[in-house]
Amino acid sequence: MLIIFDLDDTLIDTSGYVVPFKLKLCLEQLEKLGLLISDFDSAYLELLALNAKSLRSRDAVEQFIELRGGDPLWLHQIWPAMVSPLPDDFSIPTTPFAKEILEELAVRHDLALVTAGHPPFQKEKLKKAGIEQSLFSNILIPEDCIKRPAYEALCKQFLNSQVLVCGDRISVDLLPAHELGWTTVHMRWGRGLLHQTESWIDYSISGLRELRDIVR
Ligand SMILES: [Mg+2]
Repeated sequence: MLIIFDLDDTLIDTSGYVVPFKLKLCLEQLEKLGLLISDFDSAYLELLALNAKSLRSRDAVEQFIELRGGDPLWLHQIWPAMVSPLPDDFSIPTTPFAKEILEELAVRHDLALVTAGHPPFQKEKLKKAGIEQSLFSNILIPEDCIKRPAYEALCKQFLNSQVLVCGDRISVDLLPAHELGWTTVHMRWGRGLLHQTESWIDYSISGLRELRDIVR
């Protein structure tokens, strides 16, 4: 069987650790560029709330700048900070038992990682979470949120019934998999927690250990 994982908020706790750190950095940079922020803490909470409702952090920051009457071009000026390397001592927790489950599954199945984002940053996060790249037969990192071409590139030797995708974002991770006739597992973590489920989703889990009952 081929099991394709998403990275952020599926294997690692991006929403809990990376996003808060990076959004604070964004806010500091926006303040330097001239955005008037009278109360940093409440602005930060507002940005976090926008992020929770957005498909991507980038969309949340863009909306925040607009709401606060800032220059839309600031987004491009601060964005490099969002994907720049994390501090040396910054570690990222996995979601519970991610490493154990990956190691178990890798014994009997082909594992692949398809994660959208800036490739060096995605690889850095994997490393900081202590997840071995060698667990995956393939790692594909599309820079936009369109995963279907990557999925199609991976599945050539597998029947549709032999492919499963596990991710937190329904529209980005699961919908293209469903369209290809694959099994979908919704990881309810981070943004996935806040979005409604869909009737076509095959399984819904709150932790990767539940995959033990789905993949045998
Ligand atoms: Mg994700």
